[in-house]
Amino acid sequence: MNPLETLIRGEIAREGVMSLARYMALCLGHPDHGYYMTRDPFGADGDFTTAPEISQMFGEMIGAWLAHQWLERGKPAPFALVEAGPGRGTLMADILRATRGVPGFHEAARIHLLEMSPVLRKAQEKTLSGYEVTWHEELESLPSDLPLVFVANEFLDALPVHQLVWGGEWQERMVVSRENDTIGFETKKTDEALIAVIPESLLSPEVGDMLEISLVVNSFVKELAHRLEKQQGFGIFIDYGYARSAYGDTVQALYQHQPVSIFDRIGEADITAHVNFETVSSYLPNTQLTTQGAFLTALGIEARAQALLAHANDKQKTNILSGLQRLTAPEQMGRLFKVLTFGA
Ligand code: SAH
Repeated sequence: MNPLETLIRGEIAREGVMSLARYMALCLGHPDHGYYMTRDPFGADGDFTTAPEISQMFGEMIGAWLAHQWLERGKPAPFALVEAGPGRGTLMADILRATRGVPGFHEAARIHLLEMSPVLRKAQEKTLSGYEVTWHEELESLPSDLPLVFVANEFLDALPVHQLVWGGEWQERMVVSRENDTIGFETKKTDEALIAVIPESLLSPEVGDMLEISLVVNSFVKELAHRLEKQQGFGIFIDYGYARSAYGDTVQALYQHQPVSIFDRIGEADITAHVNFETVSSYLPNTQLTTQGAFLTALGIEARAQALLAHANDKQKTNILSGLQRLTAPEQMGRLFKVLTFGA
């Protein structure tokens, strides 16, 4: 049994049961043994690959969108350029490269990264060497006097969720440690705090229907909205998820690019849940939701690919074309991944 599993079983033995949200938070973020705290999980040698790691064109398109919004708003300066969950720092590096030619943008940008993992902070430091960067563990410590330009890719899906299941009343799925040494689920009566935030469209469930609620996502987005109202600014969330609230179990674990049970490889596998963009949108000002494929295509990713192809060798050509496909094709990331833009 690995140390994190021992720790989790100990807590369950003391407390009786553990919410899935607490379990997920420990698996991903335990200070010593959490998944993100101990490793760089990206790429072919890791557990999963994200859009910025697939192709530089992703960050270039996001950079173009951010710069366009900034220009349209009359070039507020200075402003806080904030990324939540920046991974290796690749997206921010591509955004900065793509905006180098936008007069005044770099001079006005104060780069702030929100990152809990010391290992990934190191990677970000390296990728962004040459830029002045301030790191934060919480949204709360970001500057409170600057307009915000906010970006996050595959951040919300890493935040913990509770799962409720309907059996005549709402029951919460709790993690239990069984006598035969396995970990699994049992249900118990749900707290009122969770029932209070069930989306209205999910109020007539059938027996067995499951739904997911992330109190952490809700409070993060509420705090962001509050700051936008006070400080002005705009932003973008990119993630996989659903446009309308729906029943279903979307919690999944990935280990070396293969799905595994969330109770296997504790602290060694990535655990995520799909993002409920209806709920996220409901807290934010002036939202627009589209798919990643439509968003990148509208910004001209195909023309960008053509421009890159003109100066590429054969191997690079293959990468550019497969990157374009993976990012935009509906059967790849194009449809499942959503883009939510917002602004005050
Ligand atoms: N945006 C990057 C990485 C996505 S993985 C990319 O697209 O490649 C999720 C990122 O969010 C990691 O950097 C992880 O360490 C960070 N993260 C997860 N939960 C967090 C939390 N509660 N607070 C701060 N950062 C968190």
